[in-house]
Amino acid sequence: MSSSVIDFIATEARFGAHNYEPIGVVLSRGEGVWVWDTDGNRYLDCLSAYSAVSQGHCHPKILAAMVEQAHRLTLTSRAFHNDQLALFYEEIAALTGSHKVLPMNSGAEAVESAIKAVRKWGYEVKGVPDGQAEIIVCANNFHGRTLGIVGFSTDPETRGHFGPFAPGFKIIPFGEAAALAEAITPNTVAFLVEPIQGEAGVVIPPPGYFTEVRELCTASNVMLVLDEIQTGLGRTGKLLAEQHEGIEADVTLLGKALSGGFYPVSAVLSNNDVLGTLRPGQHGSTFGGNPLACAVARAAMRVLVEEGMIENAARQGARLLEGLKDIRANTIREVRGRGLMLAVELHPEAGRARRYCEALQGKGILAKDTHGQTIRIAPPLVITSDQVDWALERLATTLTQDFS
Ligand SMILES: *Cc1c(COP(=O)(O)O)cnc(C)c1O
Repeated sequence: MSSSVIDFIATEARFGAHNYEPIGVVLSRGEGVWVWDTDGNRYLDCLSAYSAVSQGHCHPKILAAMVEQAHRLTLTSRAFHNDQLALFYEEIAALTGSHKVLPMNSGAEAVESAIKAVRKWGYEVKGVPDGQAEIIVCANNFHGRTLGIVGFSTDPETRGHFGPFAPGFKIIPFGEAAALAEAITPNTVAFLVEPIQGEAGVVIPPPGYFTEVRELCTASNVMLVLDEIQTGLGRTGKLLAEQHEGIEADVTLLGKALSGGFYPVSAVLSNNDVLGTLRPGQHGSTFGGNPLACAVARAAMRVLVEEGMIENAARQGARLLEGLKDIRANTIREVRGRGLMLAVELHPEAGRARRYCEALQGKGILAKDTHGQTIRIAPPLVITSDQVDWALERLATTLTQDFS
């Protein structure tokens, strides 16, 4: 480790709130699937900023769109129109088949905005008595870090000592349609759920789950809100993860890869009158829908489609999953994945996943542990077959080591 590395890490530790525990690498450059540290060492990025850099680091076309727009106009606020927002609306609606769009910045803001919108819809359209709206969520969810959201988390680390929390949420097990059927009441306005639980360790629900969920929501006039902030925009090998079961959400949340990692851009998309209940003055964001964000997002969506990244995610994801399943190692309990959203869960006796991530770092792969025993593997969607094979070789030698 050079002195400069120690310096960056020590200075962060000295001045920063310690709300993260990063792997000990200081990155200074990225291109495609690769990132470089301050000593010039190269790594294959198998986290992709939790799927935000799906298009690859510093994609030249997104970069060009950002620089061009930054020269012209960056922020107007929504007090005035700008010449990028309409085009962003048109293009995201066409891409996703949505009718209405609400632009925000972070993923958590999109979730909060959806919660506000479905509650308002519940009171004004469904006829729920004021103040009685219920939203059903799943155990082990991850929807962001705001106070409203952590209040319905089931992770003690996430919610501990941050209360009191807002009422109006009911928690059910993930992947059990019968639990949803039981939880719905006349006051239920929405079911908020991730198609695949990412932070929980890439938990894929049983086949048919979302078909049943869709039917239950339709039958009870409950808005199905899919948080596709991590699964969306090609990550699972389809544009939206909902397409794996051929269903359509009433409200879809996008973020992360919506900007290709250049800028925080998120959106609430709806197929019905949910967003139609918001009137002027009832919701907003200074930066939401700003021309720089819109120009970046337009380019990020365009390259995803034009460069075949979604098909590539399906192809390379299958190759990576098969390769991981072929690794014969006593350390591995289960390999899971859909598209390029994969995870290797280790046996409890194998030692902590973080040790394996640190060993992978030494071999030129950056991955992140989640929940102690799981290594998440989610490279940018531009990864090639050769790069997948390169990664598999290193994963195989690391996973056959014993760090217990
Ligand atoms: C990352 C994420 C969020 C929160 O997004 P932020 O931009 O970090 O606020 C919400 N939901 C899911 C499923 C996520 O993966």
